Amino acid sequence: MDSLKARKTMVDRHVRARGVRDPRVLAAMGTVPREAFLPPELAEYAYDDRPLPISSGQTISQPYIVAVMAEALALRPDERVLEIGTGSGYAAAVLAQVAGRVYTVERIEELATLARSRLVALGYRNVDVHLGDGTLGWREHAPYDAIVVAAGGPELPRALLDQLIVGGRLVMPVGDGRAQELVRVTRVGSDEYRRDELGAVQFVPLIGEQGWADDEAVPRAPRGTIPRRSVGTLVSPSPVTRTGTVAKLIAECAEPIARIEDAPLDALLDRIGDAKVVLLGEATHGTSEFYRMRTRITQELIRRKGFTSIAVEADWPDAAAVDRYIRGDRPVERAWVPFTRFPTWMWRNAETHQLVEWLRAHNRETGANVSFSGLDLYSMYTSAFEVVRYLERVDPLAARAARERYGRLTPWEHDPAAYGRAALLSRMASCEHDVVAMLRELLAKRIQYSAQDGDEFFDAAQNARVVAGAEQYYRAMYYGSVESWNLRDQHMFDTLRAIASHRGADSKLIVWEHNSHVGDAAATEMAARGEHNVGHLCREAYGDDVFVVGFGTDHGTVAAAHAWDEPMECMQVRPARADSYERLCHMTNVPAFLLHLRDPVRDTLGDELSEPRLERAIGVIYRPDTELASHYFQAVLPSQFDEYIWFDETSAVTPLPHAAQAAAPSRHPLLR
Ligand code: SAM
Repeated sequence: MDSLKARKTMVDRHVRARGVRDPRVLAAMGTVPREAFLPPELAEYAYDDRPLPISSGQTISQPYIVAVMAEALALRPDERVLEIGTGSGYAAAVLAQVAGRVYTVERIEELATLARSRLVALGYRNVDVHLGDGTLGWREHAPYDAIVVAAGGPELPRALLDQLIVGGRLVMPVGDGRAQELVRVTRVGSDEYRRDELGAVQFVPLIGEQGWADDEAVPRAPRGTIPRRSVGTLVSPSPVTRTGTVAKLIAECAEPIARIEDAPLDALLDRIGDAKVVLLGEATHGTSEFYRMRTRITQELIRRKGFTSIAVEADWPDAAAVDRYIRGDRPVERAWVPFTRFPTWMWRNAETHQLVEWLRAHNRETGANVSFSGLDLYSMYTSAFEVVRYLERVDPLAARAARERYGRLTPWEHDPAAYGRAALLSRMASCEHDVVAMLRELLAKRIQYSAQDGDEFFDAAQNARVVAGAEQYYRAMYYGSVESWNLRDQHMFDTLRAIASHRGADSKLIVWEHNSHVGDAAATEMAARGEHNVGHLCREAYGDDVFVVGFGTDHGTVAAAHAWDEPMECMQVRPARADSYERLCHMTNVPAFLLHLRDPVRDTLGDELSEPRLERAIGVIYRPDTELASHYFQAVLPSQFDEYIWFDETSAVTPLPHAAQAAAPSRHPLLR
C-alpha cells in the first residue's frame, strides 16, 4: 500500500471511525507523512495506530491520540499554539496544518535537533523548535491561544496556565506515573479556569521543574488545583510507554528458573490444583526450551497428579505410532515413518524423543497407562489408509466400501488443498457424502467392532473423524481463513473430548499446542475476527477445571522454514518489539521465570498487564522481515493464560534424521 493510501486508511479506521470529527484535524492527519518522523527501520509501521519508539527512549504518539488532542484544542487557523514535548516533531507538523503558528519545546537535545531539521526539510515554515524545560512554557512568545502537553505530569504546571490567554485551552495528561487523565483546561477569566476530563491515557513522564524530577516517580507538592468537571470518556486510548515500571513489577512477582531440569515446580503444581485439563503452549514451533520445560511439567503432572493422557498438535496416525510404542501393548510397525510430513522437526526432534522414552519407561516401571495422541486434521490420506487397514482386519466387506469411498479423494493426494477448490467448482468432485457416510457406518458398528479391541476401534473411529474433518476443512479453506481456523480448532477440541471420554471418568489431560491454540482467543484480536480456539472452547467447557500456560521468548534461534514445504532452517529470532509483552519480560533482566497471572493478591500486576499489548507468535514459518504483520497480534495476557513461562534467550530444537531408523534398538517410532 502506498503512503497516501495507508494514511487515508489509518484516518478512516482509527481516527474518524473512533469519533474525531473536526474536518481540519482529519485533513491534517491525512496529509502529514508519519513515516518521515520515524527511524527508517520503523517506517513500515507508520500507519499502525500505536506509539512507536524514537531515539533517546522516547515515543512518537499514537495517531488517534494526536488527533484527539488536536481536536480538543479547538484551534482556529490563525491561532498560536505551544506544544510541550516535540519528540519526533510529528504532532507539531499536524498542529502546523491546523493552526497559524506552532511553538514546540523539547528537553532532549538530540530530539529537538532532529525534529527541527525534519520540519524544515518537509517545508514547515510556521513551526519553531526550542530546547528547554517545557514545564516552564516558552515565555518569550506567550501568551498562547492553546497549549498542548505531550507528556504526563503530576499536575497542571502553573507556568503553562499563566501563559494562556483568557479563552485559551490547555490539553494535558495529568496523573501519577502509572496512568493519567487527559485534561482540558479553559482559561475563563484572569484567575479562573474550567476543567474537563476527556478520558484515561498513558504517556511518558513530563520531566522538569513543574513536572516530575528526572529520577522520581512521586508527584511534587501541588501548587494550587483547578476545579474538576468531567465530560464523557474517550474509548480505549492506550499509548504504552512505561515499560520500565511494569517490567520491575513483573520481576518482583516472577519465580526465577535457574535450570529447566531442576526448576522448582511446587508452586505451579499448587496453582494447577485439581484442574483436569492443563494446556501447555509455545510461542514458536521450534524452540528447545519450550519442549524441555513442557516435558518437565508433564512429568510432574503425571507423577504427582495422576495425569493420564497427552494430546499434541500432531496428526492422529503419527501420534498413534508413538502411543503404541509407549504403551507397548501393540506393535509399532507401520508402512510409513511417523512425522515425515512437513514440518518434520516439530515432533521428529531430540526433545520429543526424550519425552517419548520417558513415557515408555514410566509406563513400564509404574504400570501406568499414559497415552499419547494427535489432535490435528492434516492426515486425510494416512487416516483414510488406517481406516481401511482396520476394516480389513475386522470387516473385509466394509473395507471394500471404504476403499471405494476414500478412493475418490485420491486425485488430490499430493495437494489436498486443491481438493477444496475442485469440490467447490464441481459438486461431482465433493466427497463430503462419502466420508460422512463412512464415519457414520463405522460408529454404528461400534459395539460389534470394539468387542474385539476398544483401543483399536477408537483409533479407527478417530481416523474416520479426521478424514471427515479434513474434507470439510479443505473445502472451508476456500470460504476464508476464519472458517477453516474455527473448523480446525473445533476438531482439535472435539478430539480432546473424545480422548477424555475414551480414557474414562478419571482421565486427566495434558495438551501441547501453540499459544495461539491454547491461549483463550477471546483475550486476543482473534475474537474480533470471529475466531475461537481450543483454549477458548476448553474454558467454556471446563471452567476452572482447565489451567492454561503460555510461553514466551525474546531472542535466540528457532527451527522454522521461510515458506510452507521449504526446508527447515535454524533462524535468528529478532529481539521483541518495544510495544510487546515480550519486551516487558525482557526488561526484567531475569533470564527465565514462571509468572502466575491470576493471583488476586497481585492485582496490581494483573491491572498493569491487562492493557492490550502485542504478542509474538512464530509458527512453522518465520518471516523476520515482515515480523509485525506476520507474527504479532494484540492480546491481554492475564486473560489469555493462567501462567506465563519466560525464557529470554532460546535455542532451536534438534531435529532427528530419518537415517537412524535401521539402528533403532526398539523400533522407536521417532528413530525409524
Ligand atoms: N509529540 C511527540 C511526537 O509527535 O513525536 C511525542 C511526544 S513524546 C510522547 C513526549 C516528549 O516529551 C518526549 O520527547 C520527551 O522528551 C518530552 N518531554 C518530557 N518532559 C519534557 C519537558 N519538561 N519539556 C520538554 N519536553 C519534555
